[in-house]
Parts: sequence; C-alpha cells; structure tokens
Amino acid sequence: MKFKKQIAGLQAYQPGKTMDEVKKAFNLETVTKLASNENPYGASPKVKEFLANANIDFALYPDGYASKLRAAVANHLNISEKQLLFGNGSDENILIVSRAILEPGLNTIMADLTFGQYKHNAVVEGAEARTVPLTAEGEHDLEKMLAAIDENTAIVWICNPNNPTGTLTPSDKIKAFVEQAPSDVLIVLDEAYTEYITDNSYEDSIQLIEKHPNVLVMRTFSKAYGLASFRVGYAVGSEEVISQLEPTREPFNNTVISQEVAILGLSDQQFIADCKEKNNAGKSQFEAYCRERKLHFYPSHTNFILMEVKADSDVVFQGLMQRGYIVRSGNALGKPGYLRITIGTKEQNEELLQKLDEVLTEVGVI
Ligand SMILES: *Cc1c(COP(=O)(O)O)cnc(C)c1O
Repeated sequence: MKFKKQIAGLQAYQPGKTMDEVKKAFNLETVTKLASNENPYGASPKVKEFLANANIDFALYPDGYASKLRAAVANHLNISEKQLLFGNGSDENILIVSRAILEPGLNTIMADLTFGQYKHNAVVEGAEARTVPLTAEGEHDLEKMLAAIDENTAIVWICNPNNPTGTLTPSDKIKAFVEQAPSDVLIVLDEAYTEYITDNSYEDSIQLIEKHPNVLVMRTFSKAYGLASFRVGYAVGSEEVISQLEPTREPFNNTVISQEVAILGLSDQQFIADCKEKNNAGKSQFEAYCRERKLHFYPSHTNFILMEVKADSDVVFQGLMQRGYIVRSGNALGKPGYLRITIGTKEQNEELLQKLDEVLTEVGVI
C-alpha cells in the first residue's frame, strides 16, 4: 500500500506496563505510578461530585466548538474566545499544528532533549527535524536555535519548563528570541507544567502574542489539573493563527464529559494552589536525597525530577518496579544514567526514596 515513505520504521509510542500488569508480574498488592507526571492528588473534588451526579445524553455529539469551556478559559486568561484552539490533549494540538504547517522541504527546530512528540509529528509530515542540544544547565539554547533557522524553517518548539529535564528557560531570553526570529516562523511555547512554576522571573508568555502573532502557547488539563484521562489541552494564539489551525482539527475532538470536567477543574484555583505548594515540598524531598547521595539532578520547575542514578537506568527502573513503584527510565527518554520521577505525595516520595536506596545499594552505587 501507499503509506508515506517517511513513516517506514517509525515506532508507535511505547506505553509502560500498566499498574495491573505490574501487580500481576511481581505479585504486589499496591503499585504506585510516578511515571507520567500526573497529579498525585487527583483532580478538584468538584469533578468527582459532578461525575457522581452527571446526567448526560450519551447519544448526542458534544459541542464541537467547546463553547462553554472556551468562554471559561477565555475569561480565566483574559483573552478573546477566538484566540483558543482545543485539542484532545496537547498531544493533539501538537499534531494539529504539525498537520497544518509541516511538509517535505520544510524544517522544524526543537531541543535535544525535549518532549518527543514534536519530532514524531515532524517525521510523519515528512519535514526535517533539527535538534539543538540544551545548555549544560538544561535550558533551551535559544541563540543556537535562532542560528538554526533558515528560509525553510516553519516551526520552533520551546518546551518550557522542559520535559524531561524540568528546567525553565528564562522569560527574558524567550522574549529576546521571539523578537529576533522571523515573523513567519511559528514559535510554539509548550507550557504543560506552567501551573507549577514558582520562579518569580517567569512572565506569562501569553503577553507575547499581542506583539508577536506568530507565538502559540500550549497548555493542558492533564498535569496540575489532574484530568489526564479526559484528554483536554488548549493552545492560545493570535486570532489569525488560530483561524488557520481550526480547519485541521477534528470536528468533535473533546467529549461532553471532558468539556464539563475541564470547566470545573478551572473553577477550582484553590485546588491548583494547594497542589503547587505540596509539589514544592515534595520536590525538596528529592533534592535533599540527591544532595546527600551526590547524585546530579536538574533544577525542576515542574512536578517531576530528572535525577542521576549512577547505574544503568533500566536496572534501577526494574528494581523500583519490583518494589511497586513505576517511574521512567532515562534510557527511554534519551538520558541514560538518569530516572525521571513524578513527584508524588509526601508518603509516596518517602517510600519511593527508601526503595531507591535499597536498589542503589543492591547495584553498589551507595
Ligand atoms: C504531558 C505533556 C504533553 C501532553 O499533554 P496532554 O495534554 O495530556 O496531551 C505535552 N507537552 C508536554 C511537555 C508534556 O509533558
């Protein structure tokens, strides 16, 4: 059959073992997943309450324009409703943007290490993916990224804070980059973890859009809002960019229930503030652990931490899994010798770090 040439050999996303599979394989009663940066505190209680009492007409299609959710997000961000694109998670927004813009002959620039879906979608569309190494501190090297732009560059992806390093590229550097980049290059700022940022130097990047209509900011309900299972992400851009992206979106890409729960999640900013505070405390547990054991870690501005284990990541990952904790091996993320661990509750972190001590002792690191 006439499949696109460029998808030959492209691997499907490899999900880790499910919690049930891990329970069975290692005969465990409880398994804790700290692998995909989901919120360990779940979602706002308002969501549970809604789901317990929801009365939905299953036979009817959802509102394809997500009008109520659109109004709520526009109001929350103080922007026009026409500046929003809703996707089935940010994953779909990355696909929509790639589908609308990329094609053979064009190139797209991203960091090395960063979120894998930018490159994956570029490959599917037949565009060249140009990668620029992060700086030693784990920031995007925006000077080198700027230098990599040529007349065929269509999109630059800046993941901020960056996944999997958790590092923040300073707002003033992003502003300078946006000011110098050609105005016909779309600059995507993927801010999936923005709710967790505590650094005072961070300036809301949505402000950039007014002067720079080629900036698109992506956010999601999957991380701090604790609604990953519902698949809702949104992109904020200029009306002109959004109106070009909208026709490439599927007509009914957010379900009835997902639109409702996203509205409820958004309405409970106290829940987000509480999670942020608890996340910060949890982050300190990991940082203290790494300092005591002299393991390198990247300063995280998110709800996960990329930390060194001074051993084969897969071996340490397996050791933790046998003990009931699922994390991400650095081997799977392009950072051998490291683990990416989602920051859990205080108790989860304590137990996980105790198990990690056992594993690191077993492999002779400590
Ligand atoms: C988790 C994540 C996403 C995807 O989020 P969804 O909205 O669940 O699709 C996008 N970008 C980054 C950097 C992420 O970490």
